[in-house]
Amino acid sequence: MNLEGKTCGVCNKGKLKKFQERIAEGVYVDAYKCEHGHVSYSEEVMRRVEALERGHAEERHIVKVGSSLAALIPAAIVKQLNLKSKESVFVSAKGNTITIKVNSSAG
Ligand SMILES: [Zn+2]
Repeated sequence: MNLEGKTCGVCNKGKLKKFQERIAEGVYVDAYKCEHGHVSYSEEVMRRVEALERGHAEERHIVKVGSSLAALIPAAIVKQLNLKSKESVFVSAKGNTITIKVNSSAG
């Protein structure tokens, strides 16, 4: 589906222009942006983006541990990175994303 030149579905004013959006490490998709900065995807790309997000993220709930909050790391990630209990990690936040950097490099 080509949205080039179509009216922006967010503001109903701007005209969409194609650009390449990076949705993951090394993964670029066709996306469309209006002059007001609203981003739209074609249905096909939207499905791909959703599938990718589901595939890379597992929903977890935050639990209280003492005075801190904790999010459990899914078993698949523990296995993938060969994480061990009491291993030290570096936690940082940017926007609404929390990054946990593992000390040992398991690749
Ligand atoms: Zn717009």
